[in-house]
Amino acid sequence: MSTISKILDYNKDFVNQNQYEEFKTTKFPDKKLVILTCMDTRLLELLPKAMGLGNGDVKMIKNAGAVISHPFGSIMRSILVAIYELKAEEVCVIGHHGCGMVGLEASSILKKAKQNGIDEERIDILTNAGIDLSKWLTGFQCVEESVANSVRLIKSHPLFPKNITVHGMVIDPETGKLDLVIDGYKDIKSNSTNIPSL
Ligand SMILES: [Zn+2]
Repeated sequence: MSTISKILDYNKDFVNQNQYEEFKTTKFPDKKLVILTCMDTRLLELLPKAMGLGNGDVKMIKNAGAVISHPFGSIMRSILVAIYELKAEEVCVIGHHGCGMVGLEASSILKKAKQNGIDEERIDILTNAGIDLSKWLTGFQCVEESVANSVRLIKSHPLFPKNITVHGMVIDPETGKLDLVIDGYKDIKSNSTNIPSL
């Protein structure tokens, strides 16, 4: 039986037995928090459990590496929607140790793409069209730096409101231990002290 068939079979029982009832909530995050984190399988249950989060508590955005690769891409749009439409008041970027994006090189992905039947010509067409594949497919060297970059990018976005705090954290995918890399409350404080009193 295929994975999807198994999932659909399981789902029938889940719904018929009203197992969804314990997950009932709304689209608005109870903790008024939006989290951007990595798609790593180890974090699927560990991250919410390690943070004491239940269904309905936060908006969770995931991608490879918790990276924002474009200021007008879907990740940044999701953060803005969470704030303006879904009442989130804080943002937390959470990278993790042992991330697959650390040291990832575009050449490795392109080589595997070719092995999977993508011909060189198609890659050339993309490159000639101005798509910088090597930049787009390259990971990062240091997770703390990458988290700090994402935090900076969010805070400096022209549509991002100044009163929203943005934190940066790194989680251990084995123990769930969180380290605060950037304390958004301190940033807000130091910003407000810079405002001259009238
Ligand atoms: Zn990762």
